[in-house]
Amino acid sequence: MNVNDTERMYALLEMLNYEPVSRPEDASLIIINSCSVREKPVHKVRSEVGKYRVLKQNNPRLKIGVGGCVAQQEKGKLLVDLPILDFVFGTDSIDKLPQIVQEVTATNRRAASAQFTHGEPYQIETLVKNPGVSTFVNIMKGCDNFCTFCVVPFTRGRERSRSLREIVADIEKLTVRGVKEVTLLGQNVNSYRSPDDGAGFAELLKRLATETDVKRIRFTSPHPKDFDEELAEVMQTYRQKIMEYIHLPAQSGNTEILENMNRGYTREDYIAKARMLQQKISGAVLSTDLIVGFPGETEDQFEDTMSLLDEVPFENIYAFKYSPRPNTKAAKMSNQIPEIVKSERLSRLLAKHRAQAFEMAKKYQNVTLNVLVEEFHDDENFCFGHSTQNKSVHFDGTRDLVGCTVPVKVTEATPLLLYGECV
Ligand code: SF4
Repeated sequence: MNVNDTERMYALLEMLNYEPVSRPEDASLIIINSCSVREKPVHKVRSEVGKYRVLKQNNPRLKIGVGGCVAQQEKGKLLVDLPILDFVFGTDSIDKLPQIVQEVTATNRRAASAQFTHGEPYQIETLVKNPGVSTFVNIMKGCDNFCTFCVVPFTRGRERSRSLREIVADIEKLTVRGVKEVTLLGQNVNSYRSPDDGAGFAELLKRLATETDVKRIRFTSPHPKDFDEELAEVMQTYRQKIMEYIHLPAQSGNTEILENMNRGYTREDYIAKARMLQQKISGAVLSTDLIVGFPGETEDQFEDTMSLLDEVPFENIYAFKYSPRPNTKAAKMSNQIPEIVKSERLSRLLAKHRAQAFEMAKKYQNVTLNVLVEEFHDDENFCFGHSTQNKSVHFDGTRDLVGCTVPVKVTEATPLLLYGECV
């Protein structure tokens, strides 16, 4: 979502005739788009701003701003803590960026804009300067789930969905500009509900598959508790367009920890859902997010997360140590786990998955996959793209293949990258 927001900022600033430069020394405006999903990036924002102190001293006309979730969370406090900062804008203020930049530049006054626009309809036509083959499309924002570890409801606000009609029209326009693949974005995409007629996420996918010329549809992230059979059936019916790759964040493999996380499902529910997806969607490929060292997590409870990898064949996992976030319930829990224990558990989990991933990669050997070509690298004459299973694929090719879907036979399979030849 942050990558998409950054693209939007570029497009908005272009309207003010700003152009990107490759060195900070040449910039008249520097914006740091921030993430606060874990603790480290919050510190990074402060040190990143600090890096430009000398530039600001040498060029007082240089303006520096911080946007994104850290800005939303810290608001005007960032201006107090970082005297060289000129402006702060939160997640609902991205579209005000041109106005903020103009005001700050004209008046030399510092500004903070970090109010949520809860009551307003969520209308956000995709703005992207060079959309390329694949682009992101916001369909909803915010989250009402309040998982006890997660800062998102505080930094992105309550759930709001775009109208289905508007999304269809937006994607049609993108396809006219050459876009072949869209990734539908939202904190919780499958709680999407069109404000016009109450249509849900399954209906949205169906309409995009049948009413637009987009060649490939993917989405992130769905919530396991909201992934129903109807959605799986739509994915299967329109599999020519909808990727069979599903990122299904589990977070833990232990029911008690899941309850303490307020995830709304048990270990058994999660496993049953993963099996339902594998049964209903041919060739379904799963990946997940996992947190180790959530407050109070015992060794046995962590072992349940380890054993979840034996129950569900995740081709990829995104595993992290629990990190206390401001305003969240879990941050106030008294039974925090020592860093050393979290680090050790994370290493064990990653090592286990690494071994499994090598084994799972073998199934792609000599298999022909449909690859949407996203890039051509003329230094080595190779093409790069993703298969419908979301596997990164690299093969010898030519520039004219960019934007085409081509069959590629895999000649070497590793967990992160498949090498092949166009057949
Ligand atoms: S569903 Fe996702 S975004 Fe929402 S609170 Fe839980 S982890 Fe955060």
